[in-house]
Amino acid sequence: MAKSCPISSSFIIISVLIHFTLSIGLRRWPDVLPYELQSLDIASRLRVDPDATRMASRDFGRLVHPPNPAAVLYPSSIEDIASLVKFSYNRSSPFSIAARGQGHSLRGQAMASHGVVVEMRSLNNCSCGSGIRVTKNPIWGSYADVGGEQQWIDVLQATLKHGLAPVSWTDYLYLTIGGTLSNAGISGQTFRHGPQISNVYEMDVLTGKGELVTCSKDTNSELFFAVLGGLGQFGIIIRARIALKPAPKRVKWIQMLYDDFSTFSRDQEHLISINGLDYLEGSLLMQNSSPNNWRSSFSPSEYPRISSLISKNGIIYCLEVVKYYDELTSHTVDEELQELLKGLNFLPGFVFTKDVSLVDFLNRVHSEELNLRAKGLWDVPHPWLNLFVPGSRISDFNSGVFRDILPKINQTTGTFLIYPVIRNKWDDRTSAVIPDEDIFYTVGLLHSSGADDWEPLENQNKEILKFCDKAGIKIKRYLSRYTTKKDWMNHFGPKWRTFEDRKAQFDPKMILSPGQQIFNSV
Ligand code: FAD
Repeated sequence: MAKSCPISSSFIIISVLIHFTLSIGLRRWPDVLPYELQSLDIASRLRVDPDATRMASRDFGRLVHPPNPAAVLYPSSIEDIASLVKFSYNRSSPFSIAARGQGHSLRGQAMASHGVVVEMRSLNNCSCGSGIRVTKNPIWGSYADVGGEQQWIDVLQATLKHGLAPVSWTDYLYLTIGGTLSNAGISGQTFRHGPQISNVYEMDVLTGKGELVTCSKDTNSELFFAVLGGLGQFGIIIRARIALKPAPKRVKWIQMLYDDFSTFSRDQEHLISINGLDYLEGSLLMQNSSPNNWRSSFSPSEYPRISSLISKNGIIYCLEVVKYYDELTSHTVDEELQELLKGLNFLPGFVFTKDVSLVDFLNRVHSEELNLRAKGLWDVPHPWLNLFVPGSRISDFNSGVFRDILPKINQTTGTFLIYPVIRNKWDDRTSAVIPDEDIFYTVGLLHSSGADDWEPLENQNKEILKFCDKAGIKIKRYLSRYTTKKDWMNHFGPKWRTFEDRKAQFDPKMILSPGQQIFNSV
């Protein structure tokens, strides 16, 4: 026994040394990050290994593959994020930092090549962020204080426990508060309640100087409006106070088909000009796509009838509306709907009604996500093009894009959305950019492709943009990323000066959200 001791202790020492050397090897500190960062408290929550950095340089788009970040921070508190930002800000050569929500961006917007990505969802995993708290007060009525890292699906579930819900949504709920408020957050409720950025009362924002600031329309309003639709450029959203209303229980969900675009868009515009509906969207059904796409909700028994209509006309337009109801209104909802839809000119016999719970309706895209995941069709390239098209030119857009350019590609598993929204439901003081007309259409060409065949779809997107440019259709792109400063200046138009001034004020060292390529473009 006594003899074997020295051998086993040297064995242990050697093993420990080998393990230590190996782990240092795997965790080699990246040259681009200052060594002093390792002495901060957050060092143990920073990962520099390839598994972590590779994950943080992937997104839903699967289209861009820039160099990985140098490190990924998995914060266990808001102070962790603040100390990272302050550390970078206080250096003569700061490194870039990107907050990452769900990474459901399309073109690397939540990435930070050679910088640090902050995995915001880590705050939720350790329940150490702002969480979701539902409250009521005499000024605002009911509201939820929600961490920027939270997903909308969780906000829905948490608020429903109080019989309440936010009023403005995105079609898909597995997106974070910080991610959608950095863009706009639009869906079929936008025509009525405005985008999600029009339904925020207050925020806590960590600026690019590492300062945590509470802001609202009345307090630190410049920061408040900068951050809403601000593409992550001015601060990290730590908490947002979201407006809530009593939640309806159920939904009457109606889809009507049209073979004529001007009748379809006239009916859409009529419906958003009157009171009564809770949601309105629209989509295209095309010969080269199936009526059973990830956004349609027709019953399979209707497919043959709808498919033969599509074959006859090439394109069919589907108008989709919703009216919420509950116990109190269940006996009047059908009558009210009939009144609202009176005088519409959809194709006789092509109206489809469903009656579903509020959660099933709001969370409708998730069931399709599960379907697509099961078939291996979710984690594929997504060459999406999202546009805001001025109402006065939507008919030209239909002829040039829907009728002419889109059908040129033979087969697509994409979904094409088109619905009008109203400008005065948007606050012009935010950073979001929209066309200068009272009514504009949101158009989403949501293509999915195989790993190797996304390029023709990208080329088609370019052709569409070229067509709009040539035809003088002054579209604004949504969720897009430009790569040159000139293009960004064009995009922001008269808002560029303000955008630039706000950057100088809140993130003067240009640390935040480099993946948008606004202040680091050529
Ligand atoms: P990320 O992709 O992680 O980040 C997006 C940007 O926001 C990045 O620049 C990032 O740095 C920044 N950011 C992230 N968190 C914060 C924070 N806390 N503070 C400040 N900046 C932050 N959009 C709509 O408007 N309507 C829709 O109906 C809709 N449907 C969609 C359906 C699907 C299937 C997908 C994939 C996307 C959809 N989107 C829709 C787009 C979506 O809103 C944006 O891509 C959104 O940014 C994704 O949120 P995220 O949490 O994944 O953000």
